[in-house]
Amino acid sequence: MAKKNKGFVYLVGAGPGRADLITVRGAEILKTADCIICDKLANPALLKFARPDAEIIHVPKRVGKGSFTQRQINDLLIEKASGGKTVVRLKGGDPCIFGRCAEEASACAEAGIDFEIVPGVTAGIAAAGYAGIMLTDRKYSSQVVFVTGKEAEGKQQSNIDWQWLAKFGGTIVFYMGVANLDFIAQQLIENGMAKATPAVVIADATLPSQRVVKAPLNQISKECKRAEVKPPAIIVIGGAADSDARLNWFMKRPLFGKNIVVTRDASGNAEFAAKIIQQGGNPIELATIKIKPLTNTTRFVRALTTPSQYDWIVFTSSNGVEIVFDFLRGLGKDARVFGSAKTAAIGRETAAALVKSGIKADFVPTIYTSKELGKQLAAFWNLHGKKVLLLRSQAASNELVEWLERAGAEIESVPVYRTVTAKSKCDGLIKRIADGAIDWLTFASSSSVRTFFEQIQPDLVNSSSAKVASIGPVTSEELRRFAVRVDVTAKEHTIDGLLAAIEDACR
Ligand code: SAH
Repeated sequence: MAKKNKGFVYLVGAGPGRADLITVRGAEILKTADCIICDKLANPALLKFARPDAEIIHVPKRVGKGSFTQRQINDLLIEKASGGKTVVRLKGGDPCIFGRCAEEASACAEAGIDFEIVPGVTAGIAAAGYAGIMLTDRKYSSQVVFVTGKEAEGKQQSNIDWQWLAKFGGTIVFYMGVANLDFIAQQLIENGMAKATPAVVIADATLPSQRVVKAPLNQISKECKRAEVKPPAIIVIGGAADSDARLNWFMKRPLFGKNIVVTRDASGNAEFAAKIIQQGGNPIELATIKIKPLTNTTRFVRALTTPSQYDWIVFTSSNGVEIVFDFLRGLGKDARVFGSAKTAAIGRETAAALVKSGIKADFVPTIYTSKELGKQLAAFWNLHGKKVLLLRSQAASNELVEWLERAGAEIESVPVYRTVTAKSKCDGLIKRIADGAIDWLTFASSSSVRTFFEQIQPDLVNSSSAKVASIGPVTSEELRRFAVRVDVTAKEHTIDGLLAAIEDACR
């Protein structure tokens, strides 16, 4: 049993690259850590799981300033845990595959610190899966071996039995081998492996920058040099490497490798970014706006204290829904305050946000704009003399009100939030746009358009290869006001619709 006040060390596998390939247990443990000691290969996005007050220490092991020796890392683990902390040592892939886990676990054992090993998806297995390569297959390989490609050179006495490896007959997976690829291929061929044996190198596996180079064993090194393949990379040698190109599913994703700039507020960007990653794209987050709740105004408080007096309550964004329900939760209340009032949502995402808070919207228009919401609500329901509460952004347009008033409704429009400009550092992005390194710029609201083009010249975008995607007609109109070329406007005015429009354009 662990003694009181004694810390604990978790040796956690971060997975091969893509952040959501960490295990559920790994992610849960990250949330509890007082201190996280991070490898270079662990995806920094995983730190989103960390507590805001967690101490984060990066320990690169390369030579040079700011690098750590294995000994220093062991000492750090023990020092932190001895002080009573829960320490996570976050390591790329699986901690026990070429991960020096033995040294760290032994250091804990020696110091009497309890520890747990949380396995991870190792790069060799993930790289193969993400390139559609089957490491075992009844037809050509019943065995797999993981080999380090690093100790191959310069070591007086190698642990690698090249003769045995050349005759192994199964799938050989080399880690840390790109720099020694010439030597590796030469050793295998000299020891009897056929020159034509299939080989494949997978770099940056599971990431939008993934690359795959295939060639026979005697040419793989030359091909990798030609393609300028850089580590980290996995080398697979054997029949498995001669895979069916149709199975390379990840790199066939419509958004694979595309650099896509997202320009919502920070939390909207995070949600959008996750969807882009899901499709193989590389999101670049630039927060242009901040959402500021206006829940302390007299009008808001009055409307939300007795909302059941209204016949209809209309929500025009998921932000609005979240702010309203956060406010109600703060009062110890829930959806029942709306009584028998009917609810309308501008679109699918707003309706989904309502469902999370226990409300099934009574009305959602077929086209997700303010204008259509007003027009269709008035067409489907008798609003004459009805009291309608609009809960929306301070900057909302007047179109919705006009349609509802025309139908005879009595409108109370209450601002729930306002969007304020969030100035971000744009220098890097400006350079990337100018260099042709950005594929898409996306806009999900007119306020984002305004903030973005107050900081970045429309001409720079128009003259670059970056394409511009807009969520709907109002946002497109704003882009045109800035004289920006709009390449696609989403048919469904939601983030999913925006993504689908970009995917269609990329096919
Ligand atoms: N413990 C890690 C391996 C660490 S050794 C694991 O289980 O995956 C570092 C080597 O892992 C790199 O040189 C490379 O060969 C491989 N590697 C790690 N991440 C990779 C990635 N995303 N793509 C390809 N190879 C990767």
